[in-house]
Amino acid sequence: GRLKEGLTKTKKGITDRVDDMVKSYTKIDEDLFEELEEILITADLGVNTTMEIIDQLRDRVRENKTTDPMEVKGLLKELLTEALEEVADPNLNLETTPSVIMVVGVNGVGKTTSIGKIAHKLKGEGKKVLLAAGDTFRAGAIDQLKIWGERSGIDVISHQEGSDPAAVVYDAIQAAKSRKVDVLICDTAGRLHNKKNLMNELGKVFKIVNRECDGLSRESLLVLDATTGQNAIQQAKIFKEVTNISGLVLTKLDGTAKGGIVISVSKELKVPVKLIGVGEKLEDLQSFEPKTFVEALFD
Ligand code: GDP
Repeated sequence: GRLKEGLTKTKKGITDRVDDMVKSYTKIDEDLFEELEEILITADLGVNTTMEIIDQLRDRVRENKTTDPMEVKGLLKELLTEALEEVADPNLNLETTPSVIMVVGVNGVGKTTSIGKIAHKLKGEGKKVLLAAGDTFRAGAIDQLKIWGERSGIDVISHQEGSDPAAVVYDAIQAAKSRKVDVLICDTAGRLHNKKNLMNELGKVFKIVNRECDGLSRESLLVLDATTGQNAIQQAKIFKEVTNISGLVLTKLDGTAKGGIVISVSKELKVPVKLIGVGEKLEDLQSFEPKTFVEALFD
């Protein structure tokens, strides 16, 4: 369905290229491994992960006494599933009422859209959701969040543009507690000029959350744009220095052939991918399930 459609480019970049490549071989040799290595690196799987997968593939070919190049694809499918299972964690920790999800990320990565989609998804699961318009800096961010709220019948706590984001988040936490909300989702500003600036903007907000939400289930999701490749990894490193990140949301996977970023970003940061975006529609933000993901790429 939507996932398969959304991964069309990555399928072309990985699976279809592997298909074409193995057809040109009559036996499995070093050249084949080298060509495969290049395909995986080009698809942004990262050098380390690629090397690991190629080594494991060599082992498996030897153990299984595989001689037919056509069987390489099946083995690769197994190994990719295993690599993804290592980095995935589709569960959100939302045990308490309220639970709080902080959403951080640089402007333009799809933060507001992702919040709207997560809120819609949780409401669909029967949860009472509240949104906090914590990005008071970007023009239009508050209105954009309100539109998402209206679309799904979810309230949004907001102040004026330019006001103190920590005050908005504080009000939203009190509202979530008094209204017996299941999940509060907080938007935050994403002006990444430099680390110090980011720390100033997010630090105060997180301080409030830490103080007011002691004992509550929390998630801090970092939203990254998959089409920006290695840049996304650099951004993520800066955010990780400034705040604790419990999970990644990788958006716009539909816009890149280099979907291997799912593995490399998570491995480099040691933070699991929780959600992936494969399009602009509401249902296009999905829990990251390695098996389903690989099936969509290979079948
Ligand atoms: P923000 O500045 O981070 O809040 O970004 P927005 O939520 O406004 O999103 C920026 C653009 O990215 C919008 O046009 C979204 O529709 C688009 N977008 C977000 N997620 C996805 C996705 O998974 N796939 C595609 N193709 N577009 C997306």
